[in-house]
Amino acid sequence: MLTLPHRTLGSTGIDVSCLGLGTVKIGRNEGVKYPEKFTIPDDSAVRNLLRQAQELGINFIDTAPAYGSSEERLGKLMQRRQEWVICTKTGEEFSGGISGFDFSAQHTRHSIERSLKRLRTDYLDLVLVHSDGNDQHVIEHTDCLDTLMRCREQGLIRAVGFSGKTVDGGLLAANLCDLVMVSYNPQHTAEVDVIDHAHKLHKGVLIKKAFDSGHAIVGQNNTEDAVTQNMRFVFSRPGVSAIIAGTINPKHLQQNVAAATRALSTTSA
Ligand code: NAP
Repeated sequence: MLTLPHRTLGSTGIDVSCLGLGTVKIGRNEGVKYPEKFTIPDDSAVRNLLRQAQELGINFIDTAPAYGSSEERLGKLMQRRQEWVICTKTGEEFSGGISGFDFSAQHTRHSIERSLKRLRTDYLDLVLVHSDGNDQHVIEHTDCLDTLMRCREQGLIRAVGFSGKTVDGGLLAANLCDLVMVSYNPQHTAEVDVIDHAHKLHKGVLIKKAFDSGHAIVGQNNTEDAVTQNMRFVFSRPGVSAIIAGTINPKHLQQNVAAATRALSTTSA
C-alpha cells in the first residue's frame, strides 16, 4: 500500500508530510472566501479530524492568529504535540470581522508569546510573516523578520518563513528566510518564479490555495478528479515541499491524502 511521503523542508532539517492540514475553517467563518458557507466544527469533530490526519500520515498543521480561534483550539485539542510540525504566523490580526496588520518588533514578540500560550507549547516549529501584500515594504521597512530571526536564535522558533502575495516580495523572502509559502494552482501561476527561486536556494516551499480555496473543486462534475488534477499540477513543480490543504470534512481529508499519495508516486519533483 502507498503511504503519504514526507520531505525535508529546505535546509531546515524539519521533516513534514507532503500534505499538511490547513485550519482556517476550524477557527473562523466570517470574512472568508470559500465557495460554500460552513459551520465551525465542534471540539469532538476537530479532535477526530486531527486523529484521522495523524492516522493517514499527516504530521503537519498550519494555523495563524488571524484564523479566529484556530490556534487556541489546536492547543486544547491536539494530542501528542511533539509528533506535529506546527506552522503559525504573525502580522495579521482578525478582529470584529476585519483584518488589521502590525509588523512592529513589539507586536511580533507579543504575537509569538501569545501563540506559544494558545498552542500550549514551548516552541513553534515554523513561523511565517502573514503579509498584507505589501511584501517588499514589510521585508525592507519593518522589524518583523529580524524579530523572528531573534526568536529563532533564542530557540522559540525552529524556522522562519514568509507568506506573501507578490513575486518581488517572494523572491526577496526566499533569499532571507528558511521557507516561503506561495499560492499556486492551475488557475493561479503568477508566483511560480518564487517557487523556482526558492528551489535553487534549497529553501522550503509550502503551497497554499492548491484548490483555489475550493473554487477549483466545488461545482465540478467529478470533484475527486479535480482534486487529483490540482495535486498533480502542484506536485509536478520541482521544489514544492508540501501542500497545505484546508478541510474540515473527514471524507475530503481522506480523498486528499489518497490523491497526494498517488500524485507523488507518479511525479519526480
Ligand atoms: P484550499 O486548500 O485551496 O481549499 C480549501 C477548500 O477546499 C475548503 O473549502 C474545502 O472544503 C475544500 N476542499 C478541500 N478538499 C476537498 C475535497 N477533497 N473535495 C471537495 N472540497 C474540498 O484553500 P485555503 O483553505 O484557502 O488554503 C489552504 C490553507 O492554506 C489554509 O487553510 C491556511 O492554512 C493556508 N492559507 C494561508 C494563507 C496565508 O496568507 N498565509 C492564505 C490562505 C490560506 P471542505 O472543508 O468542505 O473540505
